[in-house]
Amino acid sequence: MQVVLIELASTGWQFNGTIPKELLQDCDVDNIESPQWVCSDVICSLDLQREYGDFKLDIEWSFDGEDRCMRCQDKTVRAYQKKLSLFFSFETDDETRDLVEKPGDLNILDILREEIWLNQNQSSLCKKKCKGLCTKCGVNRNRGQCQCDQVDVLHPFAGLRSLAFEKKD
Ligand SMILES: [Zn+2]
Ligand SMILES: [Zn+2]
Repeated sequence: MQVVLIELASTGWQFNGTIPKELLQDCDVDNIESPQWVCSDVICSLDLQREYGDFKLDIEWSFDGEDRCMRCQDKTVRAYQKKLSLFFSFETDDETRDLVEKPGDLNILDILREEIWLNQNQSSLCKKKCKGLCTKCGVNRNRGQCQCDQVDVLHPFAGLRSLAFEKKD
């Protein structure tokens, strides 16, 4: 998916379809790591247009991505869905626009990879009430109780706790 901005037709450039997971992950460019955590094909619509002398790329995607629960470290799959716009310019470089050199060679797939990385979820939970791991033994507490909570009961003096002292008047 290579586009040269200076050659962009007046109708722009569009892509509507599915980008296979394998293609997205097959990345031999050094500076962009391939997002191996994407675990489905990417349904994607792209629209690149001239806009006031600059260029605007509308992106809309949906795919499944694999995350790790931040509490229990279990793998979870979450649906990613997003609409975003990127701007490119031959003249202006600011927070909203990327300066590109003429003729403006864009590798759309790399741009997509980068944006997907930027939108990776960093703090997901496998479920709202994830109990996480036991801080003592590391057991996943969603799957059952560990012994740590019961240790007190086994303690030789634990029985003392339940002893009621008789009141003497
Ligand atoms: Zn969890
Ligand atoms: Zn434990």
